[in-house]
Amino acid sequence: QKAADTDKAKVLKIGAEMTFPPFEFQEEGNKEYVGFDMDLARAVAKQMGYTAEIQNIGFDGLIPALEAGNIDMIVSGMSITEERSKKIAFSKPYYKSGLSIVVKGDNNSVASFKDLEGKRIAVQIGTTGAEEARKIKDANVREYNSNSEAYMELKAGGVDAVVNDLPVNEYYLTKSGEKNAKIVGDIVNAEEYGMAVTKKNTELVEKVNKAIDELKKNGEYEKIYVKWFGK
Ligand code: GLN
Repeated sequence: QKAADTDKAKVLKIGAEMTFPPFEFQEEGNKEYVGFDMDLARAVAKQMGYTAEIQNIGFDGLIPALEAGNIDMIVSGMSITEERSKKIAFSKPYYKSGLSIVVKGDNNSVASFKDLEGKRIAVQIGTTGAEEARKIKDANVREYNSNSEAYMELKAGGVDAVVNDLPVNEYYLTKSGEKNAKIVGDIVNAEEYGMAVTKKNTELVEKVNKAIDELKKNGEYEKIYVKWFGK
């Protein structure tokens, strides 16, 4: 029936890896995917006349899923990099980020990236943190499927440090209830997050950029930002 057809919004399939709070995660006892990215992704989809359908996919599986056509867009705290831009098309940046180090609270031997030489470092597979850690001389870099596993390994004493995005490390320290951990050193790599679609889908990138602009203009972006990061 015609009327029913037009009522039904088009679906936009979005992929994200869900151990990246406050951008995308699941709260205990709540099956829904929540976070800054999730709210923004839903708002962008809605602005373009779509309903967002969000899937949880391993971070290193996101670009392959996009290329295989299993999802239409990645919204997963994914930093815009030259390397990735060869394969996929990023929207304009929607969040400024960077990398930082977490060590145990009583670790006084690591104060910078330089101090990580020869140390055991936990990272999430496929991330810019993993790439940065691999550049450190003699570092023993261990890659985990999720950020939660990387933090658990630090807690268990299996590694000396976690290298991950600063806002996610901050969230880990303030919200997870973890007391014996701290962020050390300077932020490296100014990075910006972008939403990503296939290179073939130039029309969609333009629509997404327009939607981001509109949400910034109408105050919706600001509302979502304040909800997750405060003022
Ligand atoms: N921003 C980092 C990257 O793009 C980490 C993203 C993530 O773990 N979700 O590689």
